[in-house]
Amino acid sequence: GLADRLQSTLQKIRGKGKLTEADVNEMMREIRLALLEADVNFKVVKDFIKRVKERAIGQEILQSLTPGQQVVKIVHDELKQLMGGEQSKIAVASKPPTVIMMVGLQGAGKTTTTGKLANHLRKQLNRKPLLVAADIYRPAAINQLQTLGKQLSLPVFSLGDKVSPVEIAKQAIEKAKEEHQDYVLIDTAGRLHIDEELMQELVDVKEAVKPDEIYLVVDAMTGQDAVNVADNFNEQLDITGVILTKLDGDTRGGAALSIREVTDKPIKFVGMGEKMDALEPFHPERMASRILGMGDVLTLIEKAQTNIDENKAKELEKKMRTASFTFDDFLEQLGNVRKMGPLDELIGMLPGANKMKGLKNVQIDEKQLVHVEAIIQSMTPKEKESPEIINASRRKRIAKGSGTTIQEVNRLIKQFDEMRKMMKQMTGMQKGKGKKKGNF
Ligand code: GDP
Ligand code: MG
Repeated sequence: GLADRLQSTLQKIRGKGKLTEADVNEMMREIRLALLEADVNFKVVKDFIKRVKERAIGQEILQSLTPGQQVVKIVHDELKQLMGGEQSKIAVASKPPTVIMMVGLQGAGKTTTTGKLANHLRKQLNRKPLLVAADIYRPAAINQLQTLGKQLSLPVFSLGDKVSPVEIAKQAIEKAKEEHQDYVLIDTAGRLHIDEELMQELVDVKEAVKPDEIYLVVDAMTGQDAVNVADNFNEQLDITGVILTKLDGDTRGGAALSIREVTDKPIKFVGMGEKMDALEPFHPERMASRILGMGDVLTLIEKAQTNIDENKAKELEKKMRTASFTFDDFLEQLGNVRKMGPLDELIGMLPGANKMKGLKNVQIDEKQLVHVEAIIQSMTPKEKESPEIINASRRKRIAKGSGTTIQEVNRLIKQFDEMRKMMKQMTGMQKGKGKKKGNF
């Protein structure tokens, strides 16, 4: 897959102190492919890569990250930047009700999202929304909204399918005023493709009721098409925001980036399922990771950056390389690791970790960490430095001193041994690779 290809590119340049333009170019090629595969619009990708390249070349190297990782981080940061900050704020009209018009193609998820949004307004914001059935074309569209209303115990306004959407919308707003409903959500009709008749009708509704928000509902699974749709709707209706649905599917979500870039309108929410509570504020951060398909690596990079002092990390790397890693280092690492999160999760995030022999045998139970610390603290400085001197009688003493059992002491020493072996293997692997490629 693509994430694998990106990672192997990263492998190739890891260990380099400085990135050459050729290195950056190669990475950019991979990242360009990743973005295209995630359905980001071609032109958007082109401009984007240009910006990232400028930043990546001549970038100062952070000590705890490889140059390759840093490029990925730049890409990630730029993606985040492109998609803007969190934007889930919904307008509030100075004179209620606030009117929200939902538009989009047929099947995009307008009706479902109207229900979800009403649910959100009531539950998170304590509002009183009125749902309005203004799709008079699709058979059963009115019924669908009424069913959702019943399910949510929220009122639904309908005048059947013989009255025009403009009239329905106007009367709904009057009704909301009378009933002191402070939000009016208008569910409109969609077509399979954009057509003028539909657009004209939406423009008419817009002019008649002057909505505070016009949300375009877009199916994330439709990829590139979604961008054209968004562009078109925005041109004719000047939408105020986008809601991206069906992100619970296996789309990489590149549409999010393109839509934002092409329409310059914020993505407000994302739909994560068919249920009424499956609506989430849009997180540019998560979307960036999803688009790159490297969420785990990115998380690891961020965690490493915030939690481990850079010089210490360097020192540690040297120790691992020369296999002079001691129980004292181990103890310190335990502390770092615990700050970072569950151990097996972290190990799992290391690129290629699952392929590493020996790793399976290193199982450290979180709950036993306290014991592990006690055991190490009961060792003499010499024992910590050179674990091979810890014979049977020393083990007995350590167990007693730490209030643990000899079995536990044995297990820890064995694990530590495995870990040192693994480190040798890891550094050995790097050397092997380097020779073949002539890079190191
Ligand atoms: P409309 O024609 O735009 O009103 O679309 P609907 O609201 O009728 O939705 C079309 C289909 O998409 C329905 O089967 C919904 O259950 C489904 N749907 C809507 N939003 C989501 C979502 O976020 N995730 C998933 N998996 N399905 C969704
Ligand atoms: Mg509908």
